[in-house]
Amino acid sequence: MRSSRTVVTFLSTLVVALAATLTVAGPAQAAPVFKAPFPCNQRWTYSHHSAEVRLALDFVRADGGTTAGTPVLASAAGTAFRYYQADGAGNYIVIDHGGGWKTYYFHLAAFSVAHGAWVGQGQQIGTTGSTGNSSGAHIHYEQLYNGVGQNIVINGWSLAPYPGYYNQKYLTSDNGCGGGTAFWTWGSGVRVRTDAYLSAPTVTTLAGPTLVHVLCQKQGDWVTADGYTNNWWSRLRDQNGFITNIYIDHPAAQLPGVPVC
Ligand SMILES: [Zn+2]
Repeated sequence: MRSSRTVVTFLSTLVVALAATLTVAGPAQAAPVFKAPFPCNQRWTYSHHSAEVRLALDFVRADGGTTAGTPVLASAAGTAFRYYQADGAGNYIVIDHGGGWKTYYFHLAAFSVAHGAWVGQGQQIGTTGSTGNSSGAHIHYEQLYNGVGQNIVINGWSLAPYPGYYNQKYLTSDNGCGGGTAFWTWGSGVRVRTDAYLSAPTVTTLAGPTLVHVLCQKQGDWVTADGYTNNWWSRLRDQNGFITNIYIDHPAAQLPGVPVC
């Protein structure tokens, strides 16, 4: 009797584990679509000096505005953590985006979010300053994968090769412009519908992985496909319709940092 009860317990544990796996909405994820760490339409210049850590870039404004005090924005959604290092990074924030990806923002004058807060892409996390080991106001920015600094990629474009001085290369931000949060889709033949229901007419079909901008999300019909089950749907800016969140390349059933429609 004892051994058979053990088997039953084991099986029910297995079923729970399988159910948990099935509610996850996507395969192993690619890098988030990172945006510039400063506000919409601002133009900043960047450089990587010889004593720089990892593959960081330093950013200062190049559009006539003042660097000090300008909002620092989350370049993708995630969980923000606050730290202080007197002889180095000063006030700094680390955002954990999941999937092994993190971004760093150093030398902040002030924090704008609580330790451990969820932040959406484009949300202000602090203000630009010169705290710690810094000779002037700038944003020191990094993208790390499994703890290793990577060449910085913004909107899918690499900023490498890095310039050694300012005013050679520039980046204009589209972060926080109100155009939705960028994600990649996966799968092929993914139908975009007029509403979050399987009976709604098809607007268009995504042939393969596509960069989409999600304006908001809502609950609609339950969909089971490719081993996943989910009833959240995303409204796409450019396709003007909804797709099931199953085909958004993010592990959460309900996407973090995206408002409900
Ligand atoms: Zn730096």
